[in-house]
Amino acid sequence: MNQATIPTPDEAKAKLTPEQYNVCFLKGTEPPGSGKYLHESAAGMYVCAVCGQELFASNTKFDSGTGWPSFWDPAAQANVQTSTDSSLGMQRTEVQCSRCGSHLGHIFNDGPKPTGQRYCINSLALDFHPAK
Ligand code: FE
Repeated sequence: MNQATIPTPDEAKAKLTPEQYNVCFLKGTEPPGSGKYLHESAAGMYVCAVCGQELFASNTKFDSGTGWPSFWDPAAQANVQTSTDSSLGMQRTEVQCSRCGSHLGHIFNDGPKPTGQRYCINSLALDFHPAK
C-alpha cells in the first residue's frame, strides 16, 4: 500500500487479517505472548499496519516481561496520539497512530530510563521494516 494513502475502514478490512482488524479498529488486544514481534530483536522500524506511518524504532524496544512488544519512546512524538480509556474498569491511556487513528495499545508509567514510559503495543497493529 502507498504510504501516502490512508485506507478507508473497508480498504483496511480487506488488507488486514480479522485479528488485526479487531485490534486496530475495534481496540482489541492480542493474547499475551502471541505476537510475532514479541521476541523480534533485529534493527529496524515498526510502522502502522494500517497506514504505514513510522511508530517505533527498534532501539527503544525492551523486554517488559508482559507478553507484548514494549517500547520506551515513539519514533516521533507527533506520530502517536493518546486518549483516556476507561474500559474494563480501569483508567488507562490508549495510544493510537496519529495519522489513521488505528489502536496500537496502551502507555504506562513504569518503563525504563530515559523516559520511564512503557508503550505496550500489539504486534498485530505493527509491521516491521528491517534496517537495510
Ligand atoms: Fe496508521
